[in-house]
Amino acid sequence: AVPGVRELMPYTPGKPISELEREYGVTDSIKLASNENPLGASPRALEAIRGELDDLWLYPDANGFELKQALARKHSVDPSCITLGNGSNDVLVFLAQVFLQPGLEAVFSQYCFAVYPIATQMVGATARVAPALQADHPMALGHDLRALYERVGPDTRLVFVANPNNPTGTWLDGARLKDFVASLPPHVICVVDEAYTEYAESDRLGDASTWLEECPNLVVTRTFSKAYGLAGLRVGYALSNPGVADLLNRVRPAFNVNSLALTAARAALEDQDFIDRSRRLNSAGLIQLGEGLRELGATTIPSAANFILAGFERSGAALNEALLREGVIVRPVGNYGLDNYLRITIGTEAQNQRVLAALKRILG
Ligand code: PMP
Repeated sequence: AVPGVRELMPYTPGKPISELEREYGVTDSIKLASNENPLGASPRALEAIRGELDDLWLYPDANGFELKQALARKHSVDPSCITLGNGSNDVLVFLAQVFLQPGLEAVFSQYCFAVYPIATQMVGATARVAPALQADHPMALGHDLRALYERVGPDTRLVFVANPNNPTGTWLDGARLKDFVASLPPHVICVVDEAYTEYAESDRLGDASTWLEECPNLVVTRTFSKAYGLAGLRVGYALSNPGVADLLNRVRPAFNVNSLALTAARAALEDQDFIDRSRRLNSAGLIQLGEGLRELGATTIPSAANFILAGFERSGAALNEALLREGVIVRPVGNYGLDNYLRITIGTEAQNQRVLAALKRILG
């Protein structure tokens, strides 16, 4: 293998329900491990896919013309600003392929989405990791913009910032984040990853796609995997200035987004009712799960996303193992350096109750 590949930390996805049930001999399991939408997929998207089935023998539209038109309208940008991905994971990799190489650096925070270090190392570039906000801060474990800024040097080409952040759920004030992007030297692109933005209740986060004109070095990424409920179809996108989008599209594999995904995403964009319902369920669930966890003695930090990071006085790996035996799949985050934590996706009211009851039994 080329240098660096063996040192890559493999991405560890949530265990699929079928695998758990076979391994542990449990039934009626629930999965709150991958920040999927407990309401399922947007009904409009499902309906639209049915009409697409007759055309599966055709290649998809390689340039995603219709979806890009719809996204351009949604974000008030030109379609030439859009790069479609097989999930937003795909466009994060394109960014690394286009802007990084050995000798160059990407900057991100200590507790950030696992794909940022993977994409960086994949192309032989160096990760410069900024410490997170300290325990005495209300957004402890979240992004420290000053620390991120201090890591930026002459060889830095990318800074990755998720808002809200995974795995912490913390968020950054939009005005401060915009100032941060604007303050970066022109050779540095800031990737603002808005995978969870639809869930964010607070207007203070802002919508980074509205800063594109003022911030030529900004790339915003979005996904249909979370609030739109289309994780299995794999579709996401980047918004950037047309020059950057042109470069990203050069490395994009032909036909990277399949026809069902293109059609479903377009229909899901029209399904505001589904987004509103998803948000309402999530807001109620954040309160239910947050309060329940604190009653069990766990520590929580504020979350603007569809999951909660909870700290325990025991190892997260051991708690996770005990939960699996109860048929409950959550996400241990030891690979993020958060040994005593679990990241739990907000489910339906009954699912949240189930994980709380299981934890109560385990914690005694
Ligand atoms: N960004 C963040 C912050 C995420 O948490 C995720 C999914 N876990 C992604 C991007 C990638 O999602 P997808 O590839 O499904 O769009």
